[in-house]
Amino acid sequence: MKKRLFTPGPTPVPENVMLRMAEPIVHHRNPEFREILERVHRNLAYLFQTTSPVVLLSASGTGGMEASITGCFRRGDKVITVNGGKFGERWGKLVRTFTGNCVEETVEWGRAVQPERIVELLKEHPDVRGVCLTHSETSTGTATDIRAISGLVHEHSDALVLVDGITAVGAHEFRFDDWGVDICITGSQKGLMMPPGLALVAISERARDIVRQNDAPCFYLSLAKALDSHEANDTPFTPAITLVIGLDESLEMIRREGVENAWLRHERLAAACRRGAEALGMELFSDAPSFAVTTVRLPEGVDWNAFNTSLKYNNGITVAAGQESYKGKIFRISHLGYYDELDMLTVIGGVERALKEIGHPFETGAGVAAVQQAFLEA
Ligand SMILES: *Cc1c(COP(=O)(O)O)cnc(C)c1O
Repeated sequence: MKKRLFTPGPTPVPENVMLRMAEPIVHHRNPEFREILERVHRNLAYLFQTTSPVVLLSASGTGGMEASITGCFRRGDKVITVNGGKFGERWGKLVRTFTGNCVEETVEWGRAVQPERIVELLKEHPDVRGVCLTHSETSTGTATDIRAISGLVHEHSDALVLVDGITAVGAHEFRFDDWGVDICITGSQKGLMMPPGLALVAISERARDIVRQNDAPCFYLSLAKALDSHEANDTPFTPAITLVIGLDESLEMIRREGVENAWLRHERLAAACRRGAEALGMELFSDAPSFAVTTVRLPEGVDWNAFNTSLKYNNGITVAAGQESYKGKIFRISHLGYYDELDMLTVIGGVERALKEIGHPFETGAGVAAVQQAFLEA
């Protein structure tokens, strides 16, 4: 059976990227590798829409989040985080671990924080040093208006704006420089169509000044070290060489497609996926849906385990389950990274087959027809 991954990390890796990574290893101080690293740095700046450095860390995405907190703040610094799901919650855990002074705004799962609420919090806490946001909250499939919030934060405070862009970069419009974002993180196994293992962190000039003056303890995941090396077109330690070479290939794919076209493709796939799911009687979970992942409620009477077993073992399709109290109530279909229109027909077709198999009634082909229609209209 052909296996098909529809999870928001890891995501499918294109064959040309895998083939590049199968080539013999090169030494990371060789000119050959330096040339690759230079191109990777350049293409990352394009992806994040910035002239600031985007540094590479050998870690999963969370390593990039941790490096950002230890790099930008000291113990005692007050930082606002927004918890609207698992990953917003993670910002709060990191801040509590490293600064011990977190103002956590809790948002109902499936909703995005309102920009005005952040302004209220900044007025209540004028001593805030940073605001941590999640562009695309992967656990709920919800997108936050980073452009609006970033503008308001700078208008009302001196706080840094830190964005977990782990499932947004490459999928959602994102302009690091124009929007005044100070830190943005992504991970290789999400929109970059790569295996896990690399975290990418964009760092604004203001954040660079803070990072360079910060004496808070950190060693391996040091943004200051990563910045120094970036300037010399180098890395502080042995990088995950093979992954960097793969990233060179996947970034070239994004550059050839055009990052704006990639955003539009994700928007189109997300819209079609939502139409398909709704046509099968599934309610959408988020009121500000992400373009990376579509979260839907399981229809009344559908047992998650039976549905998922059929999907995975009889149809070869892996989707993502609901997390925490939403386990068994919602599930998530990813269209982040290496996906096209026919992939949306496949996944909705698979969902139809699994629903039929477990005896859930609906008109055969309704979901697939809705996906087709969405693409015809687009
Ligand atoms: C996947 C993900 C992370 C965590 O990344 P890891 O690579 O698992 O460390 C953080 N934030 C968001 C929004 C994610 O989707």
